[in-house]
Amino acid sequence: MKIYKTLTGFLALLLIAALVIFSFLRGGSVAVKSPVYMLMGTTVQITAVAKDERTAHKAIEKARQTIAQTEAVMSYYKSDSQLSMINSMAHKKAVKIDAELFEVISKSIEFNKLTGGAFDCTIAPVLELWRQSAKNGTKPTQEQLAQAKAKTGSDKLIINAAEHTVKFAIEGMKLDLGGIAKGYAVDKAVDAMRSAGANGGLIDAGGDIRCFGTPPSSHKNWTVGLQNPDITAENGRAMIRKFVINDMAITTSGDYYRFVVVGGEKISHIIDPSISKPAKQLCSVSVIAPDATAADALSTAVTVLGTEKGMALIESLDGIEAMLIECHPQEKTFQSSGIEKYIEK
Ligand code: AMP
Ligand code: MG
Repeated sequence: MKIYKTLTGFLALLLIAALVIFSFLRGGSVAVKSPVYMLMGTTVQITAVAKDERTAHKAIEKARQTIAQTEAVMSYYKSDSQLSMINSMAHKKAVKIDAELFEVISKSIEFNKLTGGAFDCTIAPVLELWRQSAKNGTKPTQEQLAQAKAKTGSDKLIINAAEHTVKFAIEGMKLDLGGIAKGYAVDKAVDAMRSAGANGGLIDAGGDIRCFGTPPSSHKNWTVGLQNPDITAENGRAMIRKFVINDMAITTSGDYYRFVVVGGEKISHIIDPSISKPAKQLCSVSVIAPDATAADALSTAVTVLGTEKGMALIESLDGIEAMLIECHPQEKTFQSSGIEKYIEK
């Protein structure tokens, strides 16, 4: 087993930065940047713009609590989460869940339909096999994959909107909301910041980013940089694009920090449900959308669909843009027709 821990050094740097909280006051509004929190299995940093420092700190704390609560309910790994309760009991009986978890599962089913099955929150049994194979260093057999695939399919999820219940049609099914819950948490955290009195803010949950309202007075716009996905390249880690995303979300699905190696081959954490194998063609997919839930689900789905089908999906959707990067055999970038307006000149 060989799990690459490229992330560790990166996190260490961010955690050092986390010790520094800075704020600045100009033109009657104050911008406060939070420390880096570890939430939902990733790094989270929040910037709040408000009339005074106290309000900005309060908004940051409300956003942090909202993300932590979302994690407590929707985590695949926490045995006491509501999602784990579904995964252990929903084959026996309909499980009653919170409105927010019900909303995320319902949206996952909608995105499953919209993406022709590429986004599938029931992919967990297949994902488990690939995670296992990363531990023992051998790829799953065709038979194992076929058996796991039989336990997947969003059409086997029985939901009741009036009762807020979820039930599995067959035993062995499991839900994994890793491709959408972070985006949802960011959206809820933006709502929490607004309610707490922030005039503006930016939430970055491991590359799932949403900005709203007034940027810090030292900036004209909210901008977000995209790093070169090929960190081994000469200009690795260099910023390759800067996006202006006032009142928008941008999320990136990429295999540059999150991957495992099986038999010498780099394996993505995103599974193509049609073949039950890790998605290969794209190493980075950034999606810009009005909300982070949609951007998150779509960036995962486009990674599965690949360049041609993924771009066709993005072009068919109003108000959604994307930048796709293939890394092999050579780096190639593809941009949707309307993305130019978000690129800082
Ligand atoms: P993201 O980083 O948002 O692209 O999400 C990746 C995560 O989504 C993985 O770690 C899995 O938890 C989950 N996932 C993997 N494949 C799929 C898929 N085809 N549809 C939905 N979620 C997936
Ligand atoms: Mg996603």
